[in-house]
Amino acid sequence: MLTLDTIRQAPKALLHDHLDGGLRPATVVDLAREFGYRGLPTTDVDDLATWFRRGADRKSLELYLETFAHTVGVLQDRDAIIRVAAECAEDLAADGVAYAEVRYAPELSTEKGMTLDEVVEANLEGFRIGSVKAAEAGHPIVMKVLVTAMRQAARSVEVAECAIRWRDAGVVGFDIAGPEAGYRPTRHLEAFDRIRHENFHITIHAGEGFGLPSIWEALQFCGAERLGHGVRIVDDIKVLDDGSVELGRLAAFVRDRRVPLEMCPTSNIHSGAATSVEEHPIDLLRRLRFRVTVNTDNRLMSNVSVSSEFKALDEAFGIGLGEMEWLTINAMKSAFAPFDERLRIINEVVKPGYAHLRQAAVTVRP
Ligand SMILES: [Zn+2]
Repeated sequence: MLTLDTIRQAPKALLHDHLDGGLRPATVVDLAREFGYRGLPTTDVDDLATWFRRGADRKSLELYLETFAHTVGVLQDRDAIIRVAAECAEDLAADGVAYAEVRYAPELSTEKGMTLDEVVEANLEGFRIGSVKAAEAGHPIVMKVLVTAMRQAARSVEVAECAIRWRDAGVVGFDIAGPEAGYRPTRHLEAFDRIRHENFHITIHAGEGFGLPSIWEALQFCGAERLGHGVRIVDDIKVLDDGSVELGRLAAFVRDRRVPLEMCPTSNIHSGAATSVEEHPIDLLRRLRFRVTVNTDNRLMSNVSVSSEFKALDEAFGIGLGEMEWLTINAMKSAFAPFDERLRIINEVVKPGYAHLRQAAVTVRP
């Protein structure tokens, strides 16, 4: 069994994490006071942390999303966004994450008049500040932004154009998020077309709260290169009594084309898409060698870190360092950063990091 300490030391990559789902509880309280947000259920930091976590564990994606009213409520000012983004970079780096793509929907921060571009600029500035501090603390991290549009809203074209404007400054792709049932990805086809015409990158939340049609549309109509969650792809896989497995056409396509699945086990349990880590489809999918990656989704609401997710997987399935390295390299191969940058992190950070930990494990063995 891997210790949490070993898992923390191992270099990790994160592709699916929401800026508004990862605030420190104390920061939420500070920002509410500083910027006059009065909607918090409590200003006691411990009670607030408990409230967020209890609020998230309600087995419904729609209810899960309700807790975001308060994190978004304190993200309406440039300085607040910068602080939250900087702390995000520092927290991930301290957890041993070497590369992260963190996403945010800028349209959520426009209540007091910020423009989409101002929100994205603040997000990038926070990542810049946080990365510098993290490197000074001995934990270098590469931070990238994914710009998200809300699927129930109607601003996706504007948001896509904003993402493209910032692509040379650290934005690496475009996503849609929010309630899945009733809001299929093809509603936002025009936005995806803009992105594709610019040879830019697309990941789509699909196959989390809703099933195969959503995954199919994301891949075959919208041009998704990765799937946010994608857990429901198991609905297209049959495990027969003798243990053999039959893949439907869509599942076969996803595996054959190495479509990355941004899996977030604990978050799926909270939103009701899976019952427990032990029962989570991530085990079947990794054994079938789908391009599986391990992610947090919302570190605050789900009370997780990248390390705690790996710890849960190791406890449930005994993945060990070898599988952890495979999952990490999967994520680096699937990242939207330029090829050179990804290769450098794989060769200079990930592989030596795991080799070092394996060596250390051999040395301490009696
Ligand atoms: Zn998500």
